[in-house]
Amino acid sequence: MANQKPTACVIGAGIGGIAAALRLAAKGYHVSVFEKSDAPGGKMSQHTSKGYRFDMGPSLLTLPHLLDDLFELFGKKREDYLNLQSLPVTCNYFFSDGSNLRAWSNFADFRKELEDKGFNTVAVEQYLEKQAFRYNLTADFFLFNTIHKLSSLISEAGRKSLKALHRLDVLLTMHRRNKKSFGNSNLVQLFDRYATYNGSNPYKAPATLNMIAHLEHNTGAYLPQGGMYEIVLALLKLAKEAEIQFLYNTEVTGLVTKGREVTGVRTNDYIYPASIVISNVDVTLFYRDILPREHRFKKLMRRERSSSALIFYWGMKLNTSLDVHNIFFSKDYKAEFDGLFKTKTLANDLTVYVYISSKVNPADAPTGSENWFVMVNAPENIGQNWDFETDKARHIILEKLNEALNLNIDSYIETETIVTPLDIEHRTGSVNGSLYGHSSNSPLAAFMRHPNFSRQYKNLYFTGGSVHPGGGIPLCLASAKIVDSLTQ
Ligand SMILES: Cc1cc2nc3c(=O)[nH]c(=O)nc-3n(C[C@H](O)[C@H](O)[C@H](O)COP(=O)(O)OP(=O)(O)OC[C@H]3O[C@@H](n4cnc5c(N)ncnc54)[C@H](O)[C@@H]3O)c2cc1C
Repeated sequence: MANQKPTACVIGAGIGGIAAALRLAAKGYHVSVFEKSDAPGGKMSQHTSKGYRFDMGPSLLTLPHLLDDLFELFGKKREDYLNLQSLPVTCNYFFSDGSNLRAWSNFADFRKELEDKGFNTVAVEQYLEKQAFRYNLTADFFLFNTIHKLSSLISEAGRKSLKALHRLDVLLTMHRRNKKSFGNSNLVQLFDRYATYNGSNPYKAPATLNMIAHLEHNTGAYLPQGGMYEIVLALLKLAKEAEIQFLYNTEVTGLVTKGREVTGVRTNDYIYPASIVISNVDVTLFYRDILPREHRFKKLMRRERSSSALIFYWGMKLNTSLDVHNIFFSKDYKAEFDGLFKTKTLANDLTVYVYISSKVNPADAPTGSENWFVMVNAPENIGQNWDFETDKARHIILEKLNEALNLNIDSYIETETIVTPLDIEHRTGSVNGSLYGHSSNSPLAAFMRHPNFSRQYKNLYFTGGSVHPGGGIPLCLASAKIVDSLTQ
């Protein structure tokens, strides 16, 4: 039938899959999203227990305009679906020497805080200006564009970015650059931390990635009213209005192909015809289970994966003066990253992240209580004894928090749920439970991520954190934007 809509099948309802589905629906496709589990969101999920609500995965949103774009595709306003709160304090830092620093999102306030605490404000200001300059110079090409086609390499944005490569600090590591920029070990640790935003190691990852700090410090940190999962719910509402069909508890087990085209997706029960297929599944798993290609799978498995996380969700019957985001640094950051990437074990001292959404969303915890998401970076799952590692981490975390806050934390825990890298692997299909696909621990990592398209099949595309441009909500949204630009 000449006027029948073309059909798009999206495999996986992670943020990248939902965004791609919306973009194709806006283009006129009839879209079906196949999701193995019983709910949308993938790594972005939530959990409730005894009156507490917890975001299970992401806790911090940057670049919210990428969400706005999705609503605008349908002539809608994001504010009518999702309220975003800009956080005045992006993070409250506690250093191992007992000192403390609040990173205010307003730079004048941050400058004052830095001054009050005796830090070199000029060095921080110049550093953040430099990161902003680098981001603005290169983001269009490296983040919002495929870098895997000759046409984009020779485009104006491509030529401009490639010409600027020597200004991107590709050959220094994040840590080396931060040490040169600040000298002060607390500031170095603070800015080294941004390597973990894509699961990498600041002692190995190129200093180019120091740009990540620009997003949080210069463009702001956001939290939706109602918590991070509201992002998924808002997009889902938009998707339903766009008549996108979601099939839950429906695992895609294979593709149907004809020559250089994919003609459908296969589940245990049916074959669904498709004019176009987009995979939002971890790309390594895709080549093992959905389009088995042993050579490609093995090649992807050989590459170093990003770190994972060990998370304790604690319903806490207490009120603290903590902020939404809080970091309690370890004494020896290097040992922590050696544990994450070399020995694949937890170090004996750990940096602890505490996220309390009830600070701005009081409904997330009963009155007089707080919902603590307590996370430490963990190595990818390679079969470690997670019961042992969890006990060890819990002990270290309690000791550290008790000392820093002068409390007996254990006695306030009303409810506890624990998620290990193995759980993340099982729940989201992320190979070895890594949060961000492959690590970015080499200067060429940005070029080595899987493209957003298939070279073998002309109507097969890829979104999500395991492909270009990388992990984290903004980059997953960027991957969907790139797929949009590659499809008709
Ligand atoms: C603890 C934690 C903290 C994080 N913190 C942050 C943060 O603060 N900020 C940030 O920006 N990012 C953060 N991230 C990373 C962010 O969550 C991810 O990068 C992003 O959500 C990944 O989305 P995705 O599109 O790759 O899909 P995923 O979330 O990986 O979802 C893929 C989906 O595909 C489904 N699937 C797999 N196989 C099949 C199949 N065969 N058939 C059908 N469906 C299938 C899975 O069930 C899953 O739902 C965090 C992640 C975690 C786990």
